[in-house]
Amino acid sequence: GYWSGKVSQAELLRAGAELRARHWTLQRDLGVDLIPSNDFSFYDRVLDTCALVGAVPERYGWSGDRVDLDTYFAMARGSQGKGRDVTAMEMTKWFDTNYHYIVPEFRPGQTFRLASTKPLDEFREARGLGLVTKPVLIGPVTFLLLGKAKAARFDRLALLDALLPVYAEVLRSLAEAGAEWVQFDEPCLALDRTKEELEAYRRAYGALARRAGGLKLLVATYFAGLEDNLPTALALPVHGLHVDLVRAPGQLAPLLASWPADRTLSLGVIDGRNIWKADLAERLAWLERARERVGAERLWVAPSCSLLHVPIDLELETRLDAELRDWLAFARQKLGEVVTLARAVRDGRQRVAAALDANARAVAARRRSPRIHNPAVTQRAAGVTERDLRRASPHAARRQQQLPLPLYPTTTIGSFPQTAEVRAARKKLHDGQMTQPEYEAFIEGQIQKTLTLQEEIGLDVLVHGEFERNDMVEYFGEQLQGFAFTEHGWVQSYGTRYVKPPIIFGDVSRPRPMTVRWSRFAQSRTARPVKGMLTGPVTILQWSFVRDDQPRSETAKQLALAIRDEVLDLEAVGIRVIQIDEPALREGLPLRRDEWNAYLEWAVSVFRLATSGVKDATQIHTHMCYSEFNDVIRVIEKMDADVISIENARSGSELLEAFKEYRYPHEIGPGVYDIHSPRVPATEEIVGALREMNRVLDDRQSWVNPDCGLKTRGWEETLASLKN
Ligand code: GLN
Ligand code: ZN
Repeated sequence: GYWSGKVSQAELLRAGAELRARHWTLQRDLGVDLIPSNDFSFYDRVLDTCALVGAVPERYGWSGDRVDLDTYFAMARGSQGKGRDVTAMEMTKWFDTNYHYIVPEFRPGQTFRLASTKPLDEFREARGLGLVTKPVLIGPVTFLLLGKAKAARFDRLALLDALLPVYAEVLRSLAEAGAEWVQFDEPCLALDRTKEELEAYRRAYGALARRAGGLKLLVATYFAGLEDNLPTALALPVHGLHVDLVRAPGQLAPLLASWPADRTLSLGVIDGRNIWKADLAERLAWLERARERVGAERLWVAPSCSLLHVPIDLELETRLDAELRDWLAFARQKLGEVVTLARAVRDGRQRVAAALDANARAVAARRRSPRIHNPAVTQRAAGVTERDLRRASPHAARRQQQLPLPLYPTTTIGSFPQTAEVRAARKKLHDGQMTQPEYEAFIEGQIQKTLTLQEEIGLDVLVHGEFERNDMVEYFGEQLQGFAFTEHGWVQSYGTRYVKPPIIFGDVSRPRPMTVRWSRFAQSRTARPVKGMLTGPVTILQWSFVRDDQPRSETAKQLALAIRDEVLDLEAVGIRVIQIDEPALREGLPLRRDEWNAYLEWAVSVFRLATSGVKDATQIHTHMCYSEFNDVIRVIEKMDADVISIENARSGSELLEAFKEYRYPHEIGPGVYDIHSPRVPATEEIVGALREMNRVLDDRQSWVNPDCGLKTRGWEETLASLKN
């Protein structure tokens, strides 16, 4: 509302204050002892940190004392008008989550200064409600490591000395205002680090500890274990350390073995990344072990990480059946678990016996439930052999049998504009204002129109446009067994964008074909090839809440078998080109490099399982979109798709660099323009991009396509761009 001018700044600020008050009191009422503050954000906490330390790139023309709200939003979203025409700062995924943060921009010699009083303001605001909170800051080392140097390459950690005084100033103001603890989020300390980086940690916290003025500092890590960084973490002169035991339970033993006296240990024992009830008996055993070593008064019980990554409240889900609901815990319920565990460690198990009993029953019931287990699925998955992962012939031989196409064939990535009209039709069907046949006729009309336009433009391989899909994961989840959906289970993706990930609770199977009806219709209306369009197993897995009672690779394998059947059904009705999208493959990479190979191995093999059932003559495409492609470039060949289309327009030169050293042997369509912008690329510009590509790819392997699906675009710019 504020962005579109419907809500005033005062109203926006008031709404923020109301939300903070609501969530603080919610936590207090649930029995949480030490409540965090400064975890609220109008856009993103890394962006808040940029504002805090005055790290505003020059193009925003900011020279004020404090970073004002409009500068802040301009950094987040770009801005046109009001005397400003600037692009947004880059956005990228927060570790291995589907949440995006704003990437700080650094340059050599940059200076910092305190440019926001947000942590202090919110601490005081909570004090006004009678709460002494624990302000949470993104730690200085993680902040620098998350940033990028836009111009020349330089060592971002060289900025540490300039940055630390600003943090010290924040600490001083918080100490004066009566804070006791301050938390520094340092997830980067749980990742692979060089000696120099570990040294930066010692330097940073040595300096902050000296300037803490009586405050107690807590360093928080999450998403991975400390592993070889444990000695560094223990050597930091701080009062407390938070670790994620859900992701890395193995770190408890070494941690306790060398735990320093008088240090507070915050154990993250409730999963902040998934929606299952915890097995409280197991978690309590961890805590009791820690209590013996650390002492009850220095042991904290906490969620593993921020609860940003789970939906708020299970109570809102009135449509989930009672059995399934009893297996779940959203943020609010997770805090209940934290409090129950804390009482059990502090006052003994008998004080919370009823809660522990109910939990044990729910956990056991889930394990035993026949709804989870489908013997036919597990048997089939167990029976998969090497042979099922291989196509009959290598790509070069397959190519001879696949459909003939001109050099530089043109195509698109799948979706066409999802207009208000398309969304309205889906809503009408959902609300019963449109019958199923009416809706299907509407979708057929959209497909027909899109096919005709593609023929007129002269594209070689057509698509049906994906008008029947709300979302590329939900659409498949809704048709597969083993999935459940929430009504209000939104989690933030970025800014004001939220996603509602499906829940995979049981063995996955496909009762009937999912896309064949639409693909067959589309192919019957044109003489040109129409691509079948599916979402791949890794992406479905990655963008869902996944069951935690079996390895992710096992669930991915079941998904792959379901997709494999769909691929074969498409082939059987005469679809000659089938694309299986895997945009989330890169994002699934584990945070620690020593786990990459194991992940890539199963990710590649489930993709191959999904796609290898077809005849040589059927052309398999895949699509990926992310800029950090180079990490996985060699893996892509192993996926053995005939054609891959990738995002390239915004990171073009990087990719071409990679192809100089490495010759990709199959066919490839590096996107020739950026679909995230309404801008229409000129023909010469596209020809220029193709000539660049042509330096590292040969004529017979190059495709011409936009860099992602067109669903977020308008028709006008879409048609103009495709013509060019
Ligand atoms: N086929 C999908 C589309 O065109 C791909 C989306 C994606 O890569 N995220 O929308
Ligand atoms: Zn894409």
